[in-house]
Amino acid sequence: MHFKKNREVRPEDIFQCDMCGECCKGFGGTYVTEEEVSNISNYLNIDSASFIKKYCQITRLGKVLAQKMDGYCVFWDKKCSIHPVKPHMCKAWPFIEAVVIDVSNWRIMANACPGIRTDFPDWVIVSCVRKVIEGRKK
Ligand code: SF4
Ligand code: SF4
Repeated sequence: MHFKKNREVRPEDIFQCDMCGECCKGFGGTYVTEEEVSNISNYLNIDSASFIKKYCQITRLGKVLAQKMDGYCVFWDKKCSIHPVKPHMCKAWPFIEAVVIDVSNWRIMANACPGIRTDFPDWVIVSCVRKVIEGRKK
């Protein structure tokens, strides 16, 4: 693809979620921090202990959101049912550090996520992803 260096690329140029739910399925492990447990529990109007018991699995590396029998996240119901308080991992996707570290991750992620575009040069992807990550820190 021919690309003009001075053209500004917005995050929505390289990624647009089509709500297919693919990233909410399978064993990847959506980790939740204590703060996220508290936020989601409040959103669901239950106490943290009940939330953990009902909606989490405990792994060696921490708590992850449980999956339903069909492999989808327990909170997937044609869309994310806890969208306003979904974990950082879900909010950040696909603008994550792993892409800045190795841009080939962007293309690997695109295999599982139809919202990710791969017809941009690597340097454009890295620069755009870095900008989003930095913007989140402000
Ligand atoms: S896989 Fe990609 S396009 Fe599908 S819901 Fe997840 S982020 Fe959106
Ligand atoms: S919390 Fe929402 S966005 Fe995250 S995996 Fe579950 S359904 Fe998907």
